[in-house]
Amino acid sequence: MHQRLLATVLPLALAMPAAAGPGLAAQPAPRIHSVCDLSQQFSFYLDGRFHTQYLQGVGRDARNWGSLHRLDLSNVNLLVVDGGDPRLPYSSASLDHVVDYVERGGTLLVMLDGGDPMPPAAGLTERFGVRPTTERAATPLRAREPFEAEADSFRGGTVLDVPAAASVLLEDRDRRPVLAVVDAGEGHLLVGSRGLFGHQPDAKDPIHAAWITPLLVELATTKSIDPKRPHRSTWAEHARELGPLTLEYHDGTEPFAVAIAKEYERVRPHLVAVTGVEPAPGMLKNLLILPTGGGGFSSGQRIAIGAWWGDYPDQRYPMVELIGHEAGHSWVLPHAEPLWNEPIATWLGIQVGKRLGMEEADQTLQRQIRLGRRHDPQFDSIDPLGEDAPRDLIWGKSYFVFEELERRFGPGAMAKYFRTKRRLVAPDRNGYSMDDCVAVWGRAVGEDLFDWFRGLAFDVDPGRSDLAGNR
Ligand SMILES: [Zn+2]
Repeated sequence: MHQRLLATVLPLALAMPAAAGPGLAAQPAPRIHSVCDLSQQFSFYLDGRFHTQYLQGVGRDARNWGSLHRLDLSNVNLLVVDGGDPRLPYSSASLDHVVDYVERGGTLLVMLDGGDPMPPAAGLTERFGVRPTTERAATPLRAREPFEAEADSFRGGTVLDVPAAASVLLEDRDRRPVLAVVDAGEGHLLVGSRGLFGHQPDAKDPIHAAWITPLLVELATTKSIDPKRPHRSTWAEHARELGPLTLEYHDGTEPFAVAIAKEYERVRPHLVAVTGVEPAPGMLKNLLILPTGGGGFSSGQRIAIGAWWGDYPDQRYPMVELIGHEAGHSWVLPHAEPLWNEPIATWLGIQVGKRLGMEEADQTLQRQIRLGRRHDPQFDSIDPLGEDAPRDLIWGKSYFVFEELERRFGPGAMAKYFRTKRRLVAPDRNGYSMDDCVAVWGRAVGEDLFDWFRGLAFDVDPGRSDLAGNR
């Protein structure tokens, strides 16, 4: 996973045939089939936690990763969307599809706050006469009778303009709507501030499940679903082969995917030049384009990156570095690098950026080396393999080592290393330690490097590697 994505990464096993709920015989059949939409904006509901937070024992959740207008909603009675990102407007086909679903009895939950620019889901609520505003709700919130709810701990959001026929459930101190229901055809729109549902993936801030769950059940079950029919997640519908990567995207992310594919084609020859080898055979990876500027995940063979990561396409370097990083992982396999598997991937991305003449590349490199030196000014005292080695030290010292080896044994020292590793390290070898890595480096450059690495406080020993030697 990319280093900067790690801060927001959501650990998960991406279950394609998503079946939430334990499926025990004693469980009552689900009455709600919910779909959390991830196609307009990626969110922390990707792993089924909307079910965990609101629908345990009453529902079954799936996710939509594909174009919304293609989603089969016939056996769904709760569709969950958030505000979305202005970079990805709803298509008119998607708007029509969702309105039609509601009119046929479905319940639509829209969690949004107004803003400038307005989030795209405002175009959806407007089809039901509801307009988000940019005016902040004044706390405390109160339930409007006969609705009963407790929302004292509301962390902030905006108020709504609603039509006269709407049922206002919650209002702010000035009696302006914050949560409302609008009936349309056979179904319902439930719309309210995102803040009512919590902003923390772990639900540490209030999510108001005590009254939101019964409300969702009451609204959604006006349409009955067939619990015997499978309820599965829907994947992004497009795939494009790109050398070692299969790019996955939907109609809305296609413009980004096409541009990112072109970047990849520019990046790839530089990775081959820096590493001196082609990507490891058989290491195909799926690269899913996510509708987000940050966050992402890695799950087995699939890596996902934000379509407008680093403000792409206005800024190109962060995307080039990210592609270099993620693709770089398929160059080091089948034996991941010890210690610096992530740093080496980003270093490869940085080298690509340098070769493309991007000045941010060297700045990124030097900044990280400086951060590392704060912990270990000469890089000779902290063992980066130690249990409590700081992250910045590991990254900074890794970059320093690669740059020093390049300076002493280059140009092309890294390429010598990769070629030697491919030659000496059998694909079915069991394990690849730092001792092995230093041994391979030594053989790549024709000089024993164990003393040099020990001088940098690495605990390495040729006696622990069968790869140490001179041939
Ligand atoms: Zn990574």
